Amino acid sequence: MADRKLQIAIYWGAACGGCDVAVLDTDEFVLEVAELADIRFWPIAVDGKYADVERMTDGELDLALFNGAVRNSENQHIAELLRRKAKVMVALGSCAHLGGIPGLANETSRDEIFHRAYLQNPSLEEGNVAMPVAEKQVAMGTLQIPHFHRAVQRLSDVVDVDYFVPGCPPAPAQIKAVLLAVVKSELPAPGSVVGASDRALCDECQRVKEEKKVERFRRPWQVIQDPKKCLLEQGIICAGSVTRAGCGVRCPDSGMPCRGCYGPPPNVKDQGAKLISAVGSVVASRDADEIDRVLNEIPDIMGYAYRFGLPASTLQRSRRSF
Ligand code: SF4
Ligand code: SF4
Ligand code: SF4
Repeated sequence: MADRKLQIAIYWGAACGGCDVAVLDTDEFVLEVAELADIRFWPIAVDGKYADVERMTDGELDLALFNGAVRNSENQHIAELLRRKAKVMVALGSCAHLGGIPGLANETSRDEIFHRAYLQNPSLEEGNVAMPVAEKQVAMGTLQIPHFHRAVQRLSDVVDVDYFVPGCPPAPAQIKAVLLAVVKSELPAPGSVVGASDRALCDECQRVKEEKKVERFRRPWQVIQDPKKCLLEQGIICAGSVTRAGCGVRCPDSGMPCRGCYGPPPNVKDQGAKLISAVGSVVASRDADEIDRVLNEIPDIMGYAYRFGLPASTLQRSRRSF
């Protein structure tokens, strides 16, 4: 146990707030954390300012938990700042780990996003032509807003990350495990994925696989499912074979397919490509055109394949430009 209080920062980049809520979901443990640690910066809960962090000496923080992806220059600035100030930098949750749901924006371009949000959005006044600019001169001086990057990045694309805690959001028990490991100085080797297994989710799922083939795929609500049998073999796309175990099989145990939020296990290089291959392998027909036809019927197959990790995909990384 540390003989002084740990110094901690928690930050959200391009995030939904769910990871911050997961920290609060550790229930009374969060109070124990308050006993063990000074939370020096946590925008969602503590009124710290960026300048407070800038004034810290390098390495003054023991731990920075960064959730959310890196979408703009502000996210990047704080990621770099916290990296300098913290001895241990943790990517918390799917967005920081792999790009997450915000990473799906990389299917399109910055210009298309701005066009849709500022020119075609039905909640805007008709005829609006105002678009945001990073810098504007006004009578009082220069107004600045963060620069919107061309693409969403993972935290590890902009700074060195010591540990990754997967999940959307991570289970509170995982967050607790990371905090306790820091308190007890029992962290694993840098670069590790913490609080998850190296096995695939299918290895822990109790649903039975019978090598059944399917004619087509449906949404979960379109199928009266057998609760004991594999969802994929019932025509419901489940990413269990290409996803790291560790969540306790949360979704399949509740009748919902795994969407892959823990990211790929170590033996899977590209989670989306592998999922498409797994889905294709359960199609009844072995005719390539028929397999293509069945796969093409799936609405938004990219959204299924890369729900949490488009910025981490091989496809994406071969055409990166920020
Ligand atoms: S990982 Fe999930 S819960 Fe966490 S910020 Fe991203 S979208 Fe929200
Ligand atoms: S594909 Fe899904 S439902 Fe089937 S065994 Fe794997 S995790 Fe379970
Ligand atoms: S079952 Fe899959 S999508 Fe659901 S929490 Fe676990 S890893 Fe995430």
